[in-house]
Amino acid sequence: MYDVTHWIAGRPEEGTGATQPILDPATGDQVGTLHLGDAATVDRAVEIGRAAQRDWAQVSLSKRTQILYRMRQLMLENVEEIARAITREHGKTIGDAKGEIARGLETLEFATSITQDLKGGFSENVSTGVDAHTMRQPLGVVAGITPFNFPAMVPFWMHPVAIATGNAFILKPSERDPSASNIVARLYQEAGLPDGVFQVVHGGKETVDALCEHPGISAVSFVGSTPIAQHVHRVASAAGKRVQALGGANNHAVVMPDANIEFAAGQIASGAFGSAGERCMAVPVAVTVGDAHEPFLAAIRAEAEKIVVGPGEDPSTDMPPVITKDARDRVIRMTDEAEQAGGTIVVDGRGLVVEGHENGNFVGPTVITDLDRGHSTYTDEVFGPLLVVMHVNNFDEALELVNSSPFGNGTAIFTASGHYARRYQEEVQVGMIGINVPIPTPVGYYSFGGWKDSLFGEHHAHGPEAVSFYTRQKAITTRWPHQDEHLESSMSFPTH
Ligand code: NAD
Repeated sequence: MYDVTHWIAGRPEEGTGATQPILDPATGDQVGTLHLGDAATVDRAVEIGRAAQRDWAQVSLSKRTQILYRMRQLMLENVEEIARAITREHGKTIGDAKGEIARGLETLEFATSITQDLKGGFSENVSTGVDAHTMRQPLGVVAGITPFNFPAMVPFWMHPVAIATGNAFILKPSERDPSASNIVARLYQEAGLPDGVFQVVHGGKETVDALCEHPGISAVSFVGSTPIAQHVHRVASAAGKRVQALGGANNHAVVMPDANIEFAAGQIASGAFGSAGERCMAVPVAVTVGDAHEPFLAAIRAEAEKIVVGPGEDPSTDMPPVITKDARDRVIRMTDEAEQAGGTIVVDGRGLVVEGHENGNFVGPTVITDLDRGHSTYTDEVFGPLLVVMHVNNFDEALELVNSSPFGNGTAIFTASGHYARRYQEEVQVGMIGINVPIPTPVGYYSFGGWKDSLFGEHHAHGPEAVSFYTRQKAITTRWPHQDEHLESSMSFPTH
């Protein structure tokens, strides 16, 4: 048993809020206790952050870059400790936890080249003797509120760029798997980041609302479910903040009859069942076109049936438990409802028991087909290892089905046809598209974000859009007339 406290002003701090147990999804046992924040905790972190940010914004770009390089090295040296903390609290396999750390580090690596991204523009003689230039400045104290499913990677989409651009960052991680964030805070300190530039405040709704309403916070980045994304976007925008709020998803993968069906099934199985389907870029829906349907069902059944379900720390495990008992019950209930509505259960994950882990949150890979397109097991985000296979007659019907979803996070098409691949990328109403790639999560030097109910706000996360999000631009027009020069003034609007 261990305690997870806030990290404020470079030190662990318990605060005065309530506590909550931290549970191991593989056993159901309590492994730790989390101290929850409140408005007073947020107030204190903002006050410390404001003072730290004033000095941090004056630190040279090379010194900031050197700290980020040291941080990258420390992350690599401590990857085992962070991955084990993630597996203990989230449940995912150690390999998957290391994978998310590596993907998170892409944004840290991107932020080490902030010297390039903060270069402004300069134009000489925009009018004779008049020059113009631009520069980008930090916003001040900014906050990040993150989901349980990527306790390392998603915060890393935010803080390296926020810090590199001269802001102070307050992280409010998920209360289900909070430990990784405190390790990151400790490593930032070891890397030489001044205290107060990166802080962690834990908690649930009370802490989130305090961050969204606090006048000392200039911007909020949120990643989580759509209803909470809408709430955060509404509350923080009303409080005058810049907001990017990434929401939920229901990603479709289209399988054309000309695709390599075995390959598509393997890739879609990894998208649907990897990390027990708890990825915002998971593939919970396959759309088979024409003759692809029957061979795809056979291939996906074979893929699902060979998956080994077990605890994340067991090296032989392919698929770990889901995060809570509620999440497991939701997958079972959605399978029951699909069956009652006439759906065919191709692979049944209900009733799975993992020996020695009877109280763990385990549910097996599930594949369902013959569902009506209005059924909630198809239309709602499951966020568990459940794949619905929808069958359509042709490409246009597939496109129409995908575009009818209120979500627009990720999608994929499996095909050998350049013609259909190109039409798909052009006509689909989705932010991130994979062509023969099931989880098209952009690399750290591009930006990540969905369309429609998968993102509220103007900016996508990480990469170049994060530099814009965490900075404000100034445009400066300069003239240096000689003191003896006689320049006439005019009341007319200046032209060139
Ligand atoms: P969640 O929305 O329940 O929680 C996200 C954050 O909001 C957490 O920090 C949580 O403490 C806080 N929160 C929860 N309830 C709140 C409330 N009522 N008021 C204010 N704050 C609240 O999401 P989750 O279950 O942690 O994560 C899974 C969801 O996140 C899925 O919907 C998934 O699709 C989504 N997600 C999206 C992306 C993306 O990039 N679009 C990435 C990862 C996860």
